[in-house]
Amino acid sequence: MREDMGQKKLFVNTMGCQMNVYDTGQIQQRMAPLGFEPTEDLAKADVIIVNTCAIRAKAEQKAFSFLGRLLPYKEQKPELIIAMGGCVAQQEGHKVLSRMPHVDLVFGTHAIRRLPQLIQKIAATRCRIVDVEMASAIASDDFMLGHASSSDVATFVTIMRGCDNYCTYCVVPHVRGRESSRTPDEIISEIEHLVAHGVREVTLLGQNVNSYGKKEGFCSFAQLLERVDRVNGLARIRFTTSHPKDLSEELMLAFDRLEKLCPHIHLPVQSGADAVLRRMNRRYTSRQYRDKVAMLRSIRPDIAITSDIIVGFPGETEEEFSATLHLIDQVGFDGLFAFIYSDRPNAPAVRFDNKIGETEKKKRLQSVLNRQEILTQKKNEALTGSIQQILVDGLSKHLSYDADERLVADALEGVQWSGRTGTNKIVHFMQAPQNDDWNQMLTGRIMQIMIEKAMSHSLWGRPLS
Ligand code: SF4
Repeated sequence: MREDMGQKKLFVNTMGCQMNVYDTGQIQQRMAPLGFEPTEDLAKADVIIVNTCAIRAKAEQKAFSFLGRLLPYKEQKPELIIAMGGCVAQQEGHKVLSRMPHVDLVFGTHAIRRLPQLIQKIAATRCRIVDVEMASAIASDDFMLGHASSSDVATFVTIMRGCDNYCTYCVVPHVRGRESSRTPDEIISEIEHLVAHGVREVTLLGQNVNSYGKKEGFCSFAQLLERVDRVNGLARIRFTTSHPKDLSEELMLAFDRLEKLCPHIHLPVQSGADAVLRRMNRRYTSRQYRDKVAMLRSIRPDIAITSDIIVGFPGETEEEFSATLHLIDQVGFDGLFAFIYSDRPNAPAVRFDNKIGETEKKKRLQSVLNRQEILTQKKNEALTGSIQQILVDGLSKHLSYDADERLVADALEGVQWSGRTGTNKIVHFMQAPQNDDWNQMLTGRIMQIMIEKAMSHSLWGRPLS
């Protein structure tokens, strides 16, 4: 039986983390056999999906406000199907339908593979559906081979789902389920497939990649990386996220051994105060964290270390917050993502006393950001005069186009390109035009760049090759 519902348009609004970016790719692939192709024009869409994030209250509000703005589209085109997917959908389930009468479908994080049937049923019967059923393990047909568009140089590959850590501020175990890993063979097949479609760099995704395959008795994460390193045609490997308590020596040594593994690790510390780390249920101390950083740097001196910080966790005293600032200085991160703590449904910290006021939380956030900005600038400045290998990911944004949508380039100066170093720093450079086929000229190539200038969020350089 042909599944095609005719030529249709699918609009997906992706919010949140890389996991959702990957899931959106899966959604598009699942919908393609039904005749759906992606659109960026809401007015042309036959199905609109908002792929939501529940990690912070603000992200959840954003999802509901986007859904609210879709009402006029539904009024204009009653056959339009509006769906909410992702973590907020999983968390709120039936409540979404009562709150948003124009929403037709709520599908949870484990329901993506059932999406085509759900959409077909709604199109045929105009019913409203909630599917938030969760499975305890990954099924063999849960993931389709990853999708790469013709311009994708770097992409994500999900290697596991869910989390068993239950940090007290986090909703992930509740909305993504218990930890479960994909088989190594499936992951390698997906990466080979992506490389065959032009991908040069993959980022392996999981909430805690360090515990990859433990439950299932697969190989260790370091052994999986070894297999990925052997994939022909792949240039670079990254991964995220690592829980500091599970960062093994075997994995740290992989940074020295594996040729394609980029010297960058995202290692969320969350706080520099042991009492706060205990209340967060992180199961490491600030000392243990610093020891792991020291070991990483002794194994791979040029490794870039980035992290996450939560400010204003319930009960966080001035002294505890100062310990976080101190740790930031001690470690000297290459970059930081800092967040204000917000209560999340189902997370134990909701019930914790001594909540910190909004003004104080904002003040603490600003202190962290200011501190890190100085450090990042210094780290970037230290790279001026060095030669960096970058993987070119395409033309820099904000370029000018003429009336015929051709790039406006000065033949002498060239056009601006960008790429990333192994340490994940963005580098811009100019390259004189050689032919009309701009995008195919350099995209996906590894280039040697002499760094000439450091900015706060990127570097500027001159190509040597
Ligand atoms: S490790 Fe903690 S913060 Fe990370 S996903 Fe699991 S529960 Fe959430």
